[in-house]
Amino acid sequence: MTSPLLLLDVDGPLNPFRSRLAGLRGYTSHRMRPTIWMSRRAPDSRSARRGLRVRLHPTHGPRLLSLPYELAWATTWMHEANTMISPHVGLPADLPVIEWPELFADDPDGLSWKTRHLTAWAAGRPFAWVDDMITPRDRAWVAAHHPAPALLLRIHPRQGLRPADFATLHRWAAGLSAAGR
Ligand SMILES: [Mg+2]
Repeated sequence: MTSPLLLLDVDGPLNPFRSRLAGLRGYTSHRMRPTIWMSRRAPDSRSARRGLRVRLHPTHGPRLLSLPYELAWATTWMHEANTMISPHVGLPADLPVIEWPELFADDPDGLSWKTRHLTAWAAGRPFAWVDDMITPRDRAWVAAHHPAPALLLRIHPRQGLRPADFATLHRWAAGLSAAGR
């Protein structure tokens, strides 16, 4: 029996970008220039010079690694999640990365632009997907098209991953394991 996949977004779950600073405990604040973000602004703009503010929690990596999953990145950061995000959250710098054929593509059925490709990438394996952009449509589509169990866990970008979310992920994997999946 192989572990389920945990497909992990950056902005929202790890970087609670809608949070007010006062509400964040234990996060560190960083300025970064990820390629995708830089490609959407003028190189000499004030915004580009300052960089993107990213807040990260050093315990998120160890907590994720303690769960019975195989982690992979499912984010616009793609390989830069390994080089820019991992060192600050305590994740290894060589996690598998889902490479998107197109970023932010409109979906004809109103799904998240990630949903179809991410589900194909999982190749029939059970997966949990942790993202701030998941909607009921994504859940319904995955339930209808993915042959294995899937947990689509929406994280509010004001809160990021919280203890209850780690508990949910742990419980779901334990349920799979008990069911012999
Ligand atoms: Mg996100």
